[in-house]
Amino acid sequence: MNLAKKSATACLLAIATHLCSAQTPTTPAQISAAQKSTAATPTLPASPFNRTTVLLDPAHGGSDSGSRISDSILEKDITLALAFKLRSLLAARGFTVVMTRDSDAATQADTPNPLTLDDRAGIANRAHPAACLLLHATAAGNGVHIYRSELEPIPNEVNGTSWLTAQAAWVTQSEKLQKLLGQALTRARVPLVLSRASVRPVDSLTCPALVVELAPKGSDSSSLTNESYQQHVAGAIAAALVFWQNQAQPPVRLAPLPTTPTPKKGVQP
Ligand SMILES: [Zn+2]
Repeated sequence: MNLAKKSATACLLAIATHLCSAQTPTTPAQISAAQKSTAATPTLPASPFNRTTVLLDPAHGGSDSGSRISDSILEKDITLALAFKLRSLLAARGFTVVMTRDSDAATQADTPNPLTLDDRAGIANRAHPAACLLLHATAAGNGVHIYRSELEPIPNEVNGTSWLTAQAAWVTQSEKLQKLLGQALTRARVPLVLSRASVRPVDSLTCPALVVELAPKGSDSSSLTNESYQQHVAGAIAAALVFWQNQAQPPVRLAPLPTTPTPKKGVQP
């Protein structure tokens, strides 16, 4: 559609095809979780979810900088800063916030098993959150871009739900959450793009899940690091999640579990 959207989508598609896949060391507890995830193939957990739990995934980290906004501004730092603001606001409202990382992986270079995208999904799914927000940032466009999975909703009793399409059972809820966040940001006068993009690992998430991409305020890309701007956006999102915690619904019947990632072609299991 517009340049901003194309550019943002290109960035997200790059992520979807692993061109900027995250390899992110984390806190010891998270590393432990990651090791568990990589030691065994990811499995889809049984729900239900916790209404007061929110999962935040500050995308990128460490050697994976994400988009280079400018010489001194990296996407990985903006996503983490936004996550901290959201975590603080949500904790003050009684939420339990689980983050896939809470530092720049570069400070933990000796981490043996940096997080993969599947690890991030594993952390999210084990938390059974009422909402999963995958945070990204871009210099293109302005305001906030919110993407939900491109998967089509499936009846929950359908056989064969796989790791790579687990979100299909939840995408109806993701769409409702997308509209709710969109309404809150519109009320806060934040320019908005609502769209669909299967940004990994969103399709593997067993929760209402969205990609929230922060774009500049106006045309100045340096505004991405503006504390008050980040706080304003975070405040609108947190307010929406307060409403969401009473509206979220799990799939009526979950698909048969567990399932595992689809083996690569030519590779014997
Ligand atoms: Zn990104």
